[in-house]
Amino acid sequence: MFETTIAGSLPKPSWLAAPQMLWAPWQLAGDALVEAKRDATILMVKLQEDAGIDVVTDGEQARQHFVHGFLEQIEGVDFTRRITMGIRNNRYEVQVPTVVGPVRRRGSVHSFEAAIAREHTQRRLKFTLPGPMTIVDTLADAHYGDRTALAMAFADLLNEEARELAAIGVDVIQFDEPAFNVYMEAVTAWGIPVLERAAAGVACKTAVHICYGYGIKANIDWKAGLGAEWRQYEAIFPALAASRIDQVSVECAGSKVPIELLGLLAGKDVLLGAVDVAREEVETPEEVAATIERALRFVPAERLFPCTNCGMAPMRKDIAILKLRALAAGAEMMRNRLG
Ligand code: ZN
Repeated sequence: MFETTIAGSLPKPSWLAAPQMLWAPWQLAGDALVEAKRDATILMVKLQEDAGIDVVTDGEQARQHFVHGFLEQIEGVDFTRRITMGIRNNRYEVQVPTVVGPVRRRGSVHSFEAAIAREHTQRRLKFTLPGPMTIVDTLADAHYGDRTALAMAFADLLNEEARELAAIGVDVIQFDEPAFNVYMEAVTAWGIPVLERAAAGVACKTAVHICYGYGIKANIDWKAGLGAEWRQYEAIFPALAASRIDQVSVECAGSKVPIELLGLLAGKDVLLGAVDVAREEVETPEEVAATIERALRFVPAERLFPCTNCGMAPMRKDIAILKLRALAAGAEMMRNRLG
């Protein structure tokens, strides 16, 4: 009961990439970079184990960014044709690559680090991939001319990748879809069907992560303008509950999401965000337990997995680790309480 997991990413060691930033440049190149990615992946698996996390990830140590790390290995995506574009409905501007032809995997994108993580832990392993809707929201398109068609094309590539990862022994494949909280009408119209296409026939559990973003200024400012109650989930949870996706990862720590919205996810595992990634103050185990307790009114205990709100990539590493320990301690406290 209350097995813990994390949304996906963890901070990178300073010898691998510049700390506390997104799209952090690598500190090494060539074979030295490959070796450093391998070592960092093993380190992050072990740090999660030591913190008491039950379902661990590779910490996304081998990719620069959760979307572009995948796109870098895709034929048809041109990183020399970068343009500055507003993403997540113009919440922030980033440099994105351009789709210039049919998209195709050159080979496996993430099996290198998935295999390393699998080799070095006996615990269950989750692996994250960007979701198709979030991918098409994080690039420019000069070829397909239709967002749904482009998302479908990516769903097929993600499906190939997910099947390979499951074959390596990954226990959960999670698709990260922060865009689901932004384009709610499109989510029910085509976002979820395309997501199901990415997950179809994958021989392990599948999950979707839907959050209010990393703890960066643009997101914190956006959240400040969302009002007293954040009801974005209300528009999409019923369709997700009816989907073939097994688990839904949501943001509930320090957020204004009305907790009763979790009741709309009947039949799904809920990866409950019980640790906030947008503040540096470390939660107490009691605070984590209190978030779990609130959710328990709407989610059965056997379907509740305490988790982080979002990825921890841009955080201070020492703080992130303390938050993981608090997460595990809070879950333990609740197990003892319900014992
Ligand atoms: Zn997130």
